Amino acid sequence: MEIAEHRQLMILGGGPAGFTAALYAARANLNPLLVTGMTLYGQASQTSCIENYPGFPEGVAGSDLGQLLEDQARRFGTEVIYDLVQCVQLDERPFKVCLGSGNYTADSLIISMGAGARKLGVPGEREFTGRGVSFCATCDGAFYKDKDIHMVGGGDSAIEESLYLSRFARSITVIHRRDTLRAGAILEKRAMENPKIHFMWDSAVKEMLGDDRLTELLVENVKTGDLLRVPTDGVFISIGHIPNTSVLEGQLKLTESGTIEIDRHMESSVKGVFAAGEIADPIYRQVVTSAGMGAAAAISATNYLATL
Ligand code: NAP
Repeated sequence: MEIAEHRQLMILGGGPAGFTAALYAARANLNPLLVTGMTLYGQASQTSCIENYPGFPEGVAGSDLGQLLEDQARRFGTEVIYDLVQCVQLDERPFKVCLGSGNYTADSLIISMGAGARKLGVPGEREFTGRGVSFCATCDGAFYKDKDIHMVGGGDSAIEESLYLSRFARSITVIHRRDTLRAGAILEKRAMENPKIHFMWDSAVKEMLGDDRLTELLVENVKTGDLLRVPTDGVFISIGHIPNTSVLEGQLKLTESGTIEIDRHMESSVKGVFAAGEIADPIYRQVVTSAGMGAAAAISATNYLATL
C-alpha cells in the first residue's frame, strides 16, 4: 500500500460520536483527521427534529446539529475529509487506512462509522428501492404528498418517521409484526392521536409487487397466516440498523449483536484502536450517548498516545 501521510490520530466516521471525538482530540492538540464516510453527520442527519439532545429545548434538525458539531471540531484544528474508508489494516503498527483519495497511517484510531439501515430481505425490496421503497423519510417524504403510504417497523424511528411523513402523505399505515409498539410513550401517544396514522398489527410484509414502481404489498397476518394484497403508493422501512463493520472483518472482536467489542475505556480488542457510537453500542443508540462515547474514546486515545 502506497503511504501518503502519517497521523497521530484518525477518526473514521463523521456522526455525533466522530465529531465529538474530534473536538476532544483537537483540543488535546492531536490534529485529528476525521473521515466522514458516506452519510455526513450519520443517521442523525436523517432526523428532521431531535427533541432529546440536551441544550436544544425546541429541538434541532439532525443536519443542523451535525453542522454545529463539525464547526466546533474544526474550530480547534480538526481536519475533515469527505471520503469513504475502503480498507483498514490493524495487524501492523502504525495502523493503515485507505480512502478513495489516498492512503494514511495512524498511531491510533477511533472508529465511529455508525450503522446502516436493516433490510427486510423480501422479494421486490431491492428492485423497487428508489421506486416506491425508501429507507429515509426525511430524504424522500416530500415525494409522497397526498399519497397513501406504509411504514414497516414499530420502534422509535418508525413512529418518528411516520409522524414526519404525516406532513406530506394522505395516510400512513404502520405495519408492525407484533400488537404493541416498541417506541417510547410520547411518540406512541402522538401517533395514536394523529388522524393520518393507522396500524396493521401482527403483520409482516412478505413481498413487494409492481411494474415500474411499487404498487402493492403482500402482507401476512402472522397469527392467522392469512395473506392480503395491500395497494400502496410507497413503503418506508424502519426496522433498525446493522453496524458498519464490513471493512474491519476479522480484524477485531465483535459482540454477538455485531457491534465492536469495547472495554470501559472504549478500547477495542486491538490496543490503540477505540470505538464510539452506534458501531460499538448495542444498547442505548442515542445521539447524546454516541457523543458521550466519542468524548470518552478521545480522552482514552489521548492517554494511549501519551504512553507511546
Ligand atoms: P429498534 O428500536 O431496534 O426498533 C426496530 C423495530 O423494527 C422494532 O419494532 C422491530 O420489531 C422491528 N423489526 C426489526 N426487524 C424486523 C423485521 N425483520 N421485520 C419486521 N419488523 C422488524 O430500532 P429504531 O426504531 O431504529 O431505534 C434505534 C434506536 O434509536 C433505539 O434505541 C431508539 O430508542 C433510538 N431512537 C430514539 C428516538 C427518540 O428518542 N426520539 C428516535 C429514533 C430512534 P419488534 O418490536 O417486534 O422487535
